[in-house]
Amino acid sequence: MAITKDNRTLQILNAAAAGKYGVLSAIAYNVEQLEALVRAAEAKRSPLIIQLFPSTLKQLPLLAHTAAHAVRTATVPLCLHIDHAQNVEHIREIIATLPVDSVMVDMSHYDEAENLEKTRILTKECHDRGIAVEAESGRIEGGEDGIADTGDLEALFTSPEDVDNFIAAGVDILAPSIGNVHGDYGPTGPKEGQLHYERLEAIGKQINNRVLIALHGTNDFPPEVMQRCIRSGAIKLNVNKLLLEVGNVVLRKNAASWSIPKLIDEQIRVIQAETERWMDICGSSGKAPEKAP
Ligand SMILES: [Zn+2]
Repeated sequence: MAITKDNRTLQILNAAAAGKYGVLSAIAYNVEQLEALVRAAEAKRSPLIIQLFPSTLKQLPLLAHTAAHAVRTATVPLCLHIDHAQNVEHIREIIATLPVDSVMVDMSHYDEAENLEKTRILTKECHDRGIAVEAESGRIEGGEDGIADTGDLEALFTSPEDVDNFIAAGVDILAPSIGNVHGDYGPTGPKEGQLHYERLEAIGKQINNRVLIALHGTNDFPPEVMQRCIRSGAIKLNVNKLLLEVGNVVLRKNAASWSIPKLIDEQIRVIQAETERWMDICGSSGKAPEKAP
C-alpha cells in the first residue's frame, strides 16, 4: 500500500481498522442526499466515505465536484470514492479529470485472468495519481444502478487464492463475496446462515493487514448483522438504500401535496437522522480527530 500516507480513503479506513470500528461508505444520487450525509458526519464528528456511481457521474456531472468541495471543506475526515467502475475508458477519464480519492475497479464481469490483468494495470494507473483502488474478489450476485448484473454468472465465494491474486494485483481494498448480495434480502435482512462470518474472519487472517475489507450488499441489514460483520473484519461498509430509503418514503408520500423546498428539507432531515443512527451502530461517531483550535 505504497500510497497510504496521503490518500484520504486509506487514512480513514486505516484509522477505523486500528480503532476497530466501521465506516459508512454511502451512496449519494443527488445533492439532497449528499447534504444529509455530510451534515450527519459533522453532527456526529464521524469519518465518512462519499460514494458515487459511474452512472451518476454521467447523469449529474456537477455532483462529483460538489462532493469534492465537501471533502475539502468539512471539519471531519471525508473522501470521495467511485463505486463499481466497470468501464476501462471511463475509469481512465474519471481518474484524469475528477478529484476522487479512490475507485472501485470492478472487472468482475470478465473471466478471472482478464479481471486480474485489467485490475493490475488500472491499479497502477490509479496509484500513479495517488488514487486508492478497491476490487471485488469472488462474485457478489445481483445488479445495482447502471452496474452490469453478475447474476447470470455462477455465484462464487471469495477463495484464499482470490485474496492472494488481488493482493498481488496491488489493490488497497478488497470486497469479498461471503454470501452478501446486491439488492434486497427482504424486510428482516439476510437469512440465518446466509452470510459466512467465518469466511470473512478467515479472509481477514489471511490478509493480515495488507489490504482493507469492504462489505457490499447491506440493504435491509439489521444493526446486529452489521456489527457482527464489523467484528469479523469489515471496515468499509457500503450502504445505499439502508440510509436513503427514508428519504424516498418522504417523496412518495408527499410529492403531490408539498412544496419543493419542504420536500427537500424533510428528505435531508430524515436521511441525516438515519445516517447518524448508523454511524452510532458502526462505532464511527466521535472518531473524527478534534477540530484544530
Ligand atoms: Zn457493490
